[in-house]
Amino acid sequence: MCEGLVGIPLEDMSGSPAPYNGLVMSILNADLHCHSTISDGTLTPETLAARAKANGVELWSLTDHDEVAGQHRAMAAARDLGMPYLTGTEISVTFANVTVHIVGLGFDPDHPAMVQGLAATRGGRGERAREMSDQLAKAGIPGAYEGALKYVGNPELISRTHFARYLVEAGACKDTNEVFRKYLTEGKPGFVPHRWASLGNAVGWIREAGGVAVIAHPARYDHSPTQEYALFSEFKAHGGQAVEVVTGSHSPSEYVKYADMAIEFGLAASRGSDFHSPEESHCDLGSLPFLEGRLTPVWELLADRIR
Ligand code: AMP
Ligand code: MN
Ligand code: MN
Ligand code: MN
Repeated sequence: MCEGLVGIPLEDMSGSPAPYNGLVMSILNADLHCHSTISDGTLTPETLAARAKANGVELWSLTDHDEVAGQHRAMAAARDLGMPYLTGTEISVTFANVTVHIVGLGFDPDHPAMVQGLAATRGGRGERAREMSDQLAKAGIPGAYEGALKYVGNPELISRTHFARYLVEAGACKDTNEVFRKYLTEGKPGFVPHRWASLGNAVGWIREAGGVAVIAHPARYDHSPTQEYALFSEFKAHGGQAVEVVTGSHSPSEYVKYADMAIEFGLAASRGSDFHSPEESHCDLGSLPFLEGRLTPVWELLADRIR
């Protein structure tokens, strides 16, 4: 379960369907961050759509890492369920030597700038995976590349998550959290530093394709307060417009901290579970607290992009 008071779907409060055209409302069960088999989730776009709908999600986005190949499927599934949809992706960026994730929402998924930019971002993953596997072999875990591949749904998108699943299968750790603690993270075997997209490029692709850029889960980065301030300032200078305030990996005090920062920097606020898998994610689709009323919900900026 996600931390804090769980949002009550609007139907339960009013007895009538959510006034979906009342997009000015912060009280909307929007879930604008999750992953499918197109990246490192374990459910297909269609199964995720059904789960979101069953959980009362009123506005949904599938945000696979560095990839838009699931967008038309997610959109069609949402349409069949009568669930409003925003296109999405989560772009891997290197900022101040740290990997930062930038979510894009409401863009044209076929726009060449976005499609080519994401393809270039995915490009280094195969070689990185081979190097991760070599390091793990030296640490006594052979065959991790082949093992991880068994969990990969999209050959262009091999990620640390797929290695983590294999390491659990191989008995190296009891769960994927333990894998990230002992392996695959800075200073541990299986961590291969990688240069992702630049912040300016990622925000630029999203904007060129007509979308809104969002700083994903800001509390998760290994930045000093000065670097965090620089991230927000430069993101804003590049045309970034929103920050995830309520997300699966934030604590209640982090909801407040990033709500304050959204207001300080004049950014809209987003809400998304970052759901990957029923077995691994502690926060299910649509089960987060609502955004505080003092925030501008990112969907206010995207009212005309909702399908
Ligand atoms: P990659 O893009 O290959 O570097 O993989 C990053 C992904 O690994 C993230 O999107 C998460 O799904 C997963 N991940 C990163 N850190 C952790 C962690 N501490 N526990 C569980 N999953 C993690
Ligand atoms: Mn992931
Ligand atoms: Mn992320
Ligand atoms: Mn994510």
